[in-house]
Amino acid sequence: MRFSRGFAAVVSVAALLSAAPVAAWGPLGHRTIAGLAQQQLSEPAQREVRALLQPDDESTLVDVATWADDLRDTDPALFRSTSRLHYVNFSSAQCNYVPQRDCRKGECVVAAIGRYENILADRSRPRAERADALRFVSHFIADVHQPLHASFKRDKGGNSVQLRYGRENWNLHAVWDSLILNSTGLRWPDYAKRLSASPAPSAADAGGDPAQWAEESCRTVRDDGVYPDGNSIDDEWLARERPVAEQRMRLAAARLAATLERLLGPGRR
Ligand SMILES: [Zn+2]
Repeated sequence: MRFSRGFAAVVSVAALLSAAPVAAWGPLGHRTIAGLAQQQLSEPAQREVRALLQPDDESTLVDVATWADDLRDTDPALFRSTSRLHYVNFSSAQCNYVPQRDCRKGECVVAAIGRYENILADRSRPRAERADALRFVSHFIADVHQPLHASFKRDKGGNSVQLRYGRENWNLHAVWDSLILNSTGLRWPDYAKRLSASPAPSAADAGGDPAQWAEESCRTVRDDGVYPDGNSIDDEWLARERPVAEQRMRLAAARLAATLERLLGPGRR
């Protein structure tokens, strides 16, 4: 979801009135993850990505990073039918994913990643359908790493937690989508550079499956100070929590790249 600061105040009121969750990571987070993942792709996998996207005048993962959120405006019907696929709610602090309980009818981010991976990998399908699958896979792998997008039903992934930041009203979910990153003042290419300055996650860390990634996000929410004490936050709190968000982004990028390499790269199954 795209948040400007002014909009956040409106959303925090709206969040009280509506059960509709917001989508994860703002444009800065999505583009940074996509940019990092793109750098990690082999040349053959990059070629496949280009071949899928070029007929739509796009060529990289960054170009499509926010597409699934932008559908809200560009294709409201498709947005409505996919809006539940941006997140998963856990019902207990144990953070164990039970599909029948936590992802009824396959309507959650964990199941969605698997479904769209299958479409993307299937070369008998039309190019346009596979291109949309690539857009969804790229977006949802990023989303599942936003800690509050795999967290708890009771407060709608932090959407109903109201906070003060200076004179502004924010909800906790929007803080993790946007404020925690936007408050650096960086744009995505510089953010990607900053994150790639430290070594990328190991191949082992880049593994796992969407259910594990969601459980990891949930445990991050439970254990890593994602919720502030009290109901206001300041720049010091943002600076302290930012490394948590950044580590999730680096893992998201490495896992997105590994997934696309597996589905599109030279050694694909
Ligand atoms: Zn999203």
